[in-house]
Amino acid sequence: MAKCDKCSNQSKFFLPYGPHKYCNKHFNSFFEKRFKKTIRKYKMLSKNEVIVVGVSGGKDSMVLLHLLEKFYSKEQTIKALSIDEGIPNYRNKAIKVALKEIKKRNIEFKLVSFKKKLGKTMVDVMKKTGRNKTIGSTCSYCGPFRRKLLNETAVEMNATKIATGHNLDDEVQSIAMNFFDNDLKRMARLGAITKGSKGFIPRIKPLYLAPEKEIIAYASLNKINHFSEECCPFSWQAKRNAFRTMLNEMETKFPGTFYSILSFFENLKPSIQKKEKTTFCKKCNTLSSGTLCSACLKLEKIN
Ligand code: SF4
Ligand code: ZN
Repeated sequence: MAKCDKCSNQSKFFLPYGPHKYCNKHFNSFFEKRFKKTIRKYKMLSKNEVIVVGVSGGKDSMVLLHLLEKFYSKEQTIKALSIDEGIPNYRNKAIKVALKEIKKRNIEFKLVSFKKKLGKTMVDVMKKTGRNKTIGSTCSYCGPFRRKLLNETAVEMNATKIATGHNLDDEVQSIAMNFFDNDLKRMARLGAITKGSKGFIPRIKPLYLAPEKEIIAYASLNKINHFSEECCPFSWQAKRNAFRTMLNEMETKFPGTFYSILSFFENLKPSIQKKEKTTFCKKCNTLSSGTLCSACLKLEKIN
């Protein structure tokens, strides 16, 4: 293998979109520098924030928690929040890993469940949706419910920001999905930072510019514990899978595709935001495209 771009050591990481070649040490510093730069570039944090990190136990949120603690815990208050959707053999195991890590860190923590807050687990939801496409896939309920509980609980925790582990791959998939659905309203809500409003905490995605593969590499290099054994048993229903496969193939063939799609979206965003005014749910204050947000509408549907 060739030499690292920054020193005379053998490179261990080849990042084709650069292209960059790094040894372990310089990959680490490249990854961490980009993380801090993302926070600065999108003005994600001011002084004395209370950041509630959405922690699922997976690699993205565990890396996010690690980095926020490492670089921001002196000036900011960091808290953690886990949401249990009630998915057996999956979330319970992931949350166990999350709790173990959070306890080591001695930070304020909250665990809320779909069952307690909404009266339904995702298994109950799945029984209603099944393969019944007329009321949507199981995942189309899970996401909005999770976002709703994240906001409501973060309000109780006095958060000024909610940080989530969304990475570059997630964001590019969401942009492509909204493009294929011709859904400008939804697309206008994407991005590194979402504006807040009364009762709605602004959301930040500090891993917005970090490709998924690099998050996996960073987690392994820094021995960050996370849950990776199993996939959600309902994930076969996720439309996102088809987009992930298609986009990964494009990125492999044409390195840099992910960053190009992201730049295209960022160039477009001001004009779609002008056209698609931000509105909030009358019932729960969450960002929404109509009078009620999709979580509140979906709750009505399955009740
Ligand atoms: Fe929820 Fe679907 Fe993700 Fe499973 S795959 S956690 S059901 S959104
Ligand atoms: Zn709502």
